[in-house]
Amino acid sequence: MLHEIGSSIWQVAGVKLGTHIAVLGGVHGDEKTGIEVVKNLHDIFLNEKLKVDKGKLTLILGNEETIKIGERGTSAEHNLNRMFFDKHLVGPVLDSYESRRAHELAPILKSSDISLDIHSTSVSTVPFLPCAFTPRHEKIYQWFDARIVLTDPDFVLGGQRSTTDEYVDYCGGIGICFETGWANDTSRLPAVKKGILNILADQGLITPTKPLQSPTPSYKVYRLTRKISLSETGFRYTKGFPESFQEVKMGELIGYHGDKPEIAEEGGVIAFPRAADQWKLGHDIFFIARRIK
Ligand SMILES: [Zn+2]
Repeated sequence: MLHEIGSSIWQVAGVKLGTHIAVLGGVHGDEKTGIEVVKNLHDIFLNEKLKVDKGKLTLILGNEETIKIGERGTSAEHNLNRMFFDKHLVGPVLDSYESRRAHELAPILKSSDISLDIHSTSVSTVPFLPCAFTPRHEKIYQWFDARIVLTDPDFVLGGQRSTTDEYVDYCGGIGICFETGWANDTSRLPAVKKGILNILADQGLITPTKPLQSPTPSYKVYRLTRKISLSETGFRYTKGFPESFQEVKMGELIGYHGDKPEIAEEGGVIAFPRAADQWKLGHDIFFIARRIK
């Protein structure tokens, strides 16, 4: 039986002990695929179309407040996926919905063996996995239809350990983040759902309808090296808005902050280019990543 154990948090446990998997969608309230995946899984387990035999499954709609209004956070400064760091979580709840929500979700993430946090981006992209590249992680995300891993061991993204997957890794579990594509595009929903169900089957939570064929994907692996933020002078790209993972050569002129050129210090790719209508002063415009495999 699926039980609501908190606001937009549901849990179903098998009769036998096993792996605890948490699936999160809508940690950013404007990212539709993750929200729909969690709602779909909620219906499947509520109506007992599938049963959990072993272990435990927790389904979470992350940022309920912004899912209602289709926004990323309750303000530009409030990002639920930058709230999962120890200093914040052991301290008092701050004056924001996201702080309160992170405190509610942290114990669940801490007790999870595996977390699957489903995101999407402000521009169109091939699916990719912005999380760690280890054999333990690979064993889980091999079931997702993605061939790019974007690692961030230096915490370039949040300036410190702060995302759900980083927190779960820190707590000893396996934290996975999956960027499925453009935030308004839900066409990858069936593939993402299938990937999650295969992970649940592979981990013994559910019984697969037919024997699982383990995929053997090979990955292009990148490591985030730099964050480029919006200054008061604004920014313009010299070659037009980049593709996600567009290559840049060492010394290449990427654009201008006012008159100040932004030049690639090393060869790599542009990662997480943010749609121009979402640029905010002091926040990221794009990142640079270096190929490591
Ligand atoms: Zn997101």
